[in-house]
Amino acid sequence: MPAATPGPRAGRYAPSPSGDLHLGNLRTAILAWVLARRTGRTFHLRVEDLDRVQEGAAQRQLEDLAALGLDWDGEVVRQSERGADHEAAIGSLTAQGLVYECYCTRREILEAPSAPHAPPGAYPGTCRDLSPAEREAGRVRMRELRREPALRLRAEVTEWSVQDLWEGEVRGAVDDLVLRRGDGVVAYNLAVVVDDAAAGVDQVARGDDLLSSAPRQAHLAHLLGLPEPTYAHVPLALNTAGARLAKRDGAVTLRDRLAAGESAADVVERIGESLGLAGCRSAADLLEAWDPAGMSRRPWVVDLPA
Ligand code: GLU
Repeated sequence: MPAATPGPRAGRYAPSPSGDLHLGNLRTAILAWVLARRTGRTFHLRVEDLDRVQEGAAQRQLEDLAALGLDWDGEVVRQSERGADHEAAIGSLTAQGLVYECYCTRREILEAPSAPHAPPGAYPGTCRDLSPAEREAGRVRMRELRREPALRLRAEVTEWSVQDLWEGEVRGAVDDLVLRRGDGVVAYNLAVVVDDAAAGVDQVARGDDLLSSAPRQAHLAHLLGLPEPTYAHVPLALNTAGARLAKRDGAVTLRDRLAAGESAADVVERIGESLGLAGCRSAADLLEAWDPAGMSRRPWVVDLPA
C-alpha cells in the first residue's frame, strides 16, 4: 500500500451523485470549504460514484457549488476511477490476515442472533471462522446465486476513538465491516478512507449522519498505515416536521430556489443565518465571518417561504 501523498493539509467535500444537492447538503459543502480555507488547508471535491449514480447529477452538483462561490484545488476526483488503490488496500489487509469471505445473504444477517456484547446491527460473525469445507460450500452457494462472496474485515478491536471538532473525543463501534460487496463494488467505508488519505485529507467535514461510521473508518486507516484524520461532523438539515430534509419537501435545491425568484446570494444568506452569521451574501463573506465556536450544534430546521 503506497503511503499517503505528502503535501499540504487538506479538506474535502465528497457528495454522492444521486441527485441535486439540497440546502442541507449545500450548507455542509460551504462549511467544509470554510473550514479548509480558514485553516490553510487545500480543498478537494470527490464524486462518490461507486453507487447511487443519477445521470448528469455530478455535473449539476459541481455547477451548483461553483454558483455559490466555492472553489476547489486540483481536478475533481471520481471515486470510480480509484479502483487500483482500493484493491491495493484490500490486498494490504489480506496480507495482514485481516480479510475473510462472507457468504451470508442480507436476510441471513438480519435473522441471525447477534453475538454477545455486539453493538446493534453488527455483523454476527457467521463466516468469520469457517472450516475449509464450509468455505467451499459457501463458494458453491455463491456461484448458484451468481454472486461473489463479500469480503469482510476480521476486526481485532470492538471500538475505536476519533476526534471531532465539536464533539471532542468520540468512541464508537468497529465490527467486521464489508470491504467489497457481493456485487463486486468496493464498500464506501474502505473507499472513503483510501481516497481521503491519497488526497492528503486530514480533516473530514461532512453530515453528522456519518459520525457513527467515523471510528470504523479511522480504524481502517490505522490498519492501512495511513494517517487518521480528525473530523468535523455538521448537524443535518430537517424539515418543519423534524424529518431529515429531502427533495420531496419542496423547493429545496439551489435550482428550485432560483426558479422561485431567489438569487444565489439569497441562498448563501439563508445558509449563513442558519450558522448564526447574518448578512453574508457571498461565500467570501461567510469565510470572513465564520466562528466555529458560535455554530449551533442543533439540526437546522429549514422553513421556507411558501
Ligand atoms: N458520499 C457521502 C454522502 O454524500 C459522504 C461521504 C463522506 O463525506 O464521507 O452522503
